[in-house]
Amino acid sequence: MRIHAVQTGRVQIKASQIVGKGHGLARRLAPLTDREWAAWLPTYAYAIEHRDGVILVDAGASAGLKRLPRWHPYFRFAVRFDIEPDEEAGPQLRTIGIGPTDVKRVVLTHMHIDHDGGLAAFPTSEVLISPGELAAASGIAGRLRGYLPDRWPRGFDPKPLVLDSVAYGPFARSRRLTANGAIVAVATPGHTRDHLSVIVEDGDAAVFIAGDASYTEEAMLAGQIDGVGADEDAALATLAAIRAFAQSRPTIYLPAHDPDAARRLADRRADLAPEVDRPGRARATFIPGSLPLPSR
Ligand SMILES: [Zn+2]
Repeated sequence: MRIHAVQTGRVQIKASQIVGKGHGLARRLAPLTDREWAAWLPTYAYAIEHRDGVILVDAGASAGLKRLPRWHPYFRFAVRFDIEPDEEAGPQLRTIGIGPTDVKRVVLTHMHIDHDGGLAAFPTSEVLISPGELAAASGIAGRLRGYLPDRWPRGFDPKPLVLDSVAYGPFARSRRLTANGAIVAVATPGHTRDHLSVIVEDGDAAVFIAGDASYTEEAMLAGQIDGVGADEDAALATLAAIRAFAQSRPTIYLPAHDPDAARRLADRRADLAPEVDRPGRARATFIPGSLPLPSR
């Protein structure tokens, strides 16, 4: 099994979004008024080469995000993107020999704009999304929440990824995504109410693709929820569940915006079982040149 961290550009948000300040409405307003921008962060999508075909977890950002609707205060005051078209997930995967039709499925942890932005490059892939997340992201209400449903690709037709009431370790709901059961979607609510994560079993170890369950491993370990999440209690419970999971087996924790995520994956790569061997394919775990981050 091979997992690629694909960096789709950079994003800058406020420090009070990465680690929330205060509670309730004050916590969610702080990123709008906070003057302190955090350092630029990467935005990762993760491609899993599996014998059933490539599964892409999140589609990453797109160059279109450099132009955001000015009427929305979050877009206007609290987020900036830096990404060129050739940094989108589709073109980057092609450079390592993975074409759009190789990607059988795209699983979205949630539908925030830097997670679904790259979808247009995968018109034949099955796109799997929690039905609750899709509902939250749709229509005028979705736009008010900071989603961009008007930018979904033409013919966008996602399939519902319904998690069963079957516990997977400390996670209350889950669904196996592959025939051999080694790739599992689990409910990780908090950042959004229907946020999910994808766990790749690797023998006794696991790779935990976390979306925005936390922005960094550090925040997860410290139990620090973010400044924009939908539900504080659910987010805290999710971080506790992830810590419990990570104590149960060696875990590589891969959030979408953690500057250390690709390095953690690369350090571990040599140990991953060669379930899928595709001679001639690039063996890069992350796309060379996508790191380090610029300081701009
Ligand atoms: Zn998000």
